[in-house]
Amino acid sequence: MLRDYSALQRKPLSFSLEDSRYIIAAALNNFDPLLGSRAKDIFAAGFNTGTAPVELWSDAERYRADANVRDRDAAHMKTLQQGARWRLEEVAAGQGFMMRCRPAQTPTSEHGDPANPHPYAVIDYQFDGSLHGVIYMAHEVGHAIGDDCLRALGGTYTPSKMDEVQAYFVQLTVYDHLCRSPNQRIAKAFRRHRADTIAAASGDRREALQTAQSIFEAAQDQKERRSIVDTLMGVYGLKTVQEILAVSCPTLSLAKPVPVYQSPNI
Ligand SMILES: [Zn+2]
Repeated sequence: MLRDYSALQRKPLSFSLEDSRYIIAAALNNFDPLLGSRAKDIFAAGFNTGTAPVELWSDAERYRADANVRDRDAAHMKTLQQGARWRLEEVAAGQGFMMRCRPAQTPTSEHGDPANPHPYAVIDYQFDGSLHGVIYMAHEVGHAIGDDCLRALGGTYTPSKMDEVQAYFVQLTVYDHLCRSPNQRIAKAFRRHRADTIAAASGDRREALQTAQSIFEAAQDQKERRSIVDTLMGVYGLKTVQEILAVSCPTLSLAKPVPVYQSPNI
């Protein structure tokens, strides 16, 4: 009897949490071992997994929902003792809506993101096992790396245009790694995803993505890579976009950003 395999062939690619963690750390390690070790630090303490509905994550209700914890301060202590940098929930494909990084020791944001009392950035993440879930995990790791570098200098977080550039840079590095995968199905799927992401970006996000792309291209120069990555991530203090471009791509300016990709190469 002939069997119909078409449904199997159409099955979307999916990744486990461990796959995702491995891919991101490996991609960054291949590009720049120090960047890779910063990512590994963020993963090292594991994932503080929860099953609370996403709306509970956004305020103190999330803490009260934890049956083992009676009050919010105790809940903070519990997370602190565990040391996990992630509050993560595994969800079905297409259900990953919560993706954010809350910088160290920040009050409730103007957008309503809850305070983070910990001396390290915390990533709230619904991982759905899709390409999207993997690549935006890399994006949030980029935010956390930037915050870790700021904290290492004793700085305190203030919103900056650089936040998104740092995150997109890490995202583009992981895209590049996956788009070169020897597994053609994975490579093709991530090339398509990258093209879609670029096409969909608008306004400030597009500008941040284009700037990150310019810096990523400059960082292809192996000799300059270390200093470009460190400057971007704020190892020498937070630099403006113009200062980083002056280091990494002196011939470019924000007034005339290079096209991110001329056409989707898929
Ligand atoms: Zn972001």
